[in-house]
This record gives sequence, C-alpha cells and structure tokens, in this order.
Amino acid sequence: MAIERYKVIQVDSPVPDVRVFRLRPVSGDIPPYVPGQFFFLHRLDANGASILKRPYSVASAPSMAYLEFAIDMVKGQMTSQLEKIRAGDILGVEGPAGHMTYKNEQNAAFVAGGTGISPFISMLRQITEKNIQGRFVLFYSTRTRDHILFSGELKALQKKHPGIEVVITLTRETPDGWAGECGRVNREMLSRHVPTARELDWFVCGPPGMVKAIRECLVALSVDPKKLRMEGWG
Ligand SMILES: Cc1cc2nc3c(=O)[nH]c(=O)nc-3n(C[C@H](O)[C@H](O)[C@H](O)COP(=O)(O)OP(=O)(O)OC[C@H]3O[C@@H](n4cnc5c(N)ncnc54)[C@H](O)[C@@H]3O)c2cc1C
Repeated sequence: MAIERYKVIQVDSPVPDVRVFRLRPVSGDIPPYVPGQFFFLHRLDANGASILKRPYSVASAPSMAYLEFAIDMVKGQMTSQLEKIRAGDILGVEGPAGHMTYKNEQNAAFVAGGTGISPFISMLRQITEKNIQGRFVLFYSTRTRDHILFSGELKALQKKHPGIEVVITLTRETPDGWAGECGRVNREMLSRHVPTARELDWFVCGPPGMVKAIRECLVALSVDPKKLRMEGWG
C-alpha cells in the first residue's frame, strides 16, 4: 500500500489526554473504506519518507470529506510525536486495512472501551446517514463523565435514529445525578440491556483485557462466535 500525504486540517482536545485529528489528502481523493477499518498514520521526515507508523481506527464515516481519528496520548513513540502536530502539518496515511468491518448489518451491538469508540462512531454515523433499519446498542465504557468522547454527537444520533441506544458506563466515578451505568461492562449489564444477545451481531473494541472479558461474557450468553468481531489495542 502506498503512503499518501495528508494535511491536518483540525486538531481538537475534547476530553483529557485524547486528541481528535481531521486530515485531508494533499492531492487526490480519500480511498474507499468501510466503518471499522483502520489506517496507518506515518510520521514523515523532511524528504517525505516514513520514520514511524502506527494503526488507528477511523472515526469518520466514508461519506465525510476528511478522515478523523481519536487518539489517546499515551506518551509512547508515536503519540509523543502526534502531541506536537498542529493544523497545517503533514502526516503520511496508508490504508485502509482491517476486518472488523460493518457491512450494514441490522440489529447490532457495539462494546467500546475508551478510544475504542472510534470505529463505532463511524458505524453509527453511517447507520444514521443511510437510515439503516434495526436496533443498534452501543455500550461505551470510559473513566469519568469528562472522558466521554463524541458526547454531543451520540445524543444527536439517538435523536435522529430511533433504533440507536447508548449505554454509557463510568469506571472511575459515580457523579451526582448520573443516570447511566457505573463499573465495567459485565454479563449482567449486557443481558439487562440486550436480553436477546444471540440475535444480534456484536462488535467489541478496546484494551485487549476488556475485549477478552466481553468475548467470554458473550459466549456465555450464547452468542455464536461467528457473529462476533473484535479488535484490541492498548
Ligand atoms: C488495529 C488498531 C487500531 C488502533 N486504533 C487506535 C485508535 O483509534 N486510537 C488510539 O488511541 N490507539 C489506537 N491503536 C493503538 C495505536 O496503534 C498505538 O499502539 C498507540 O497510539 C501507542 O503508540 P505509541 O507509539 O505512542 O506507543 P509505543 O511507543 O508503541 O508504546 C506502547 C505502550 O508503551 C507505553 N510507553 C511507551 N513509552 C513509555 C514511556 N516512556 N513511559 C511510560 N509508558 C510508555 C505507552 O503508554 C504505550 O501504551 C490501534 C491499534 C491497532 C492495532
């Protein structure tokens, strides 16, 4: 796959320790991709050669005029570089790649941990744009209320599409007046919101420990592993 030059058109820091980057190709078009796929971002040297690359799940929907990524600033090799990136800078982009793809399935559930929300905001954007009929339940586990990414958009998507339900669970606090869930996603929480787990397609994305634990819960809830797609990082 070729590495294309992209210009960073916007950098936001909507929640602590996460940056959201929007990028557009310097020339040509964004290649076709499917929600759930990822691209490699490359740090380029002065001659345009790649010096470092890491994969990032795409958060934008394919219809959008830019690629969007939500990246946890974990102070590793790549993220220390990305922390210095500003609008106007150039990054290399290679892809898309990846098999955790959403193919317009009706009746699906998504379980996200932290920036694992990225592939699912892409999927929910597409579901809403295309008005795909069915029930779509997002379980989104994050540390505190201040760490909820795409918070306003998640509310707007639920208003636009009556089939979308968002279950947010906070793992590190129970704020006053919080009406959502608290603690890690577990079997009880999953089956309370989705008593018919085996009838849905499931997508799970987040830290590997969480992905493994959710897989075990879903298998115990009689979900056919063929209806389960997962991606772990962190
Ligand atoms: C398919 C896929 C999709 C992904 N999508 C996303 C995404 O959408 N968003 C996202 O945020 N990430 C995503 N990742 C993870 C991403 O690719 C990188 O692994 C991540 O950004 C860390 O890269 P890094 O070079 O900064 O860390 P590395 O240098 O590779 O370090 C790895 C780990 O070691 C720790 N570490 C490194 N140096 C230090 C240090 N000096 N002190 C303390 N700890 C240290 C870091 O905290 C980090 O957790 C994805 C991974 C995969 C495989």
